[in-house]
Amino acid sequence: MSQILQAIRGMNDILPPESERWERFEETVRDWLFSYGYRPIRMPLVEPTPLFARAIGAVTDIVEKEMYSFTDALNGEALTLRPEGTASCVRAVLQHNLLYDGPKRLWYMGPMFRHERPQKGRYRQFHQVGVEALGLPGPDIDAEQILMCARLWDDLGLEGIRLEINSLGELEERTRHRADLIAYLEKHIEELDEDGRRRLHTNPLRILDTKNPALQEIVEAAPKLIDYLGKASLEHFEGVQQLLEDAGVPYRVNPRLVRGLDYYNLTVFEWVTDRLGAQGTVCAGGRYDGLIAQLGGKPAPACGFALGIERLMALLEAQGELPEAPAVDVYVVHQGEAAQRLAFRAAEALRDIGCAVITHMGGGSFKSQMKRADASGAQLAVIIGEDEAQKNEASLKPLRVEREQWRVAVDGLADAVNDWLFGADEAINEE
Ligand code: ATP
Ligand code: MG
Repeated sequence: MSQILQAIRGMNDILPPESERWERFEETVRDWLFSYGYRPIRMPLVEPTPLFARAIGAVTDIVEKEMYSFTDALNGEALTLRPEGTASCVRAVLQHNLLYDGPKRLWYMGPMFRHERPQKGRYRQFHQVGVEALGLPGPDIDAEQILMCARLWDDLGLEGIRLEINSLGELEERTRHRADLIAYLEKHIEELDEDGRRRLHTNPLRILDTKNPALQEIVEAAPKLIDYLGKASLEHFEGVQQLLEDAGVPYRVNPRLVRGLDYYNLTVFEWVTDRLGAQGTVCAGGRYDGLIAQLGGKPAPACGFALGIERLMALLEAQGELPEAPAVDVYVVHQGEAAQRLAFRAAEALRDIGCAVITHMGGGSFKSQMKRADASGAQLAVIIGEDEAQKNEASLKPLRVEREQWRVAVDGLADAVNDWLFGADEAINEE
């Protein structure tokens, strides 16, 4: 026998019942997005490589070393599996001129691809929910997006996710800060690590975000961007904070919070948990007013964020809040040809009234079929043997509570099942 092929490292299969828990999670997410007026958008998983270099920034980790890029063998086009969704979303918005009649609130969900070192909470194919509001300049939408997240944690039953916010100001403010920051870091160049030296003149802000403990003292004492913000930037930031306070959502201003993507300005935020080890950021986002123009559109403000689904699922598990995988309602057991044909009819009649039904296939003894019925998680087995088939009847056998089986006419099966499944609470209590 030849060897079984394996999935690519860092790219996971999501199997039942995990996949079903994901679906439950996704339902909650869809309802939540709808309740804030966000509408779905679906973009391709593959985009022209220059889109990401232009949007995310050529000297970011993502573009420098994490992208799955390849050349289309047929036409030589440079293509990339999307490492994130904002660039694609903005590309789509511009391509289809979606802002012509005012601001848009959009969301998407799906796989993203980054060539990172796989570890717990960090994969090469991972999944995000992306939320983008385009065309709105005020601190109100920033604040609402942050409050939205707080509501989602609540909807999911999650606790203890901390909010950190910062303001990256505007380009001119960042430029002045950057000059001072480089001058400061140059004085400490001997102490910087390799990453730090490499970024010193390309992306010094990212050095402030270093996880290297040896550098903490240096970055603590570095010039803080927030001290360079002008009046308008500060007012915007205060506006966000005011609305967070009004809503009673606690936060911490973290002056060293920066994002790994170049397109952010003003508000940035992260939601972080201590319960997932090093990969504790479950949600990150902020304002990216420059991106639309950077991608060739008429300048328009925008802000958004992305949730890491794997990390949220891990947190749900850690907090014992994993949504339950659903089970079918009914498993139909049968033996003999006439019984099989009746079983098919009975199952369809049950689906007509909204039941989820597995009809046994593959034959076998009643005993082995009942084992399958039990393993399916169904509440009820419908049993059709030769005798039932002859009389046009079916037997009902509850699988999750102790009760003798009983017979009904097939014509009355749907009613009987309906009563048992959905009207049976009282009957059970009485017993
Ligand atoms: P990190 O600092 O953890 O690398 P990031 O700044 O690269 O995160 P973003 O690009 O802002 O992350 O993505 C938003 C969210 O997507 C992250 O907060 C995280 O929850 C999730 N995420 C990012 N990269 C991965 C990955 N490789 N595997 C799993 N989840 C990820
Ligand atoms: Mg990253």
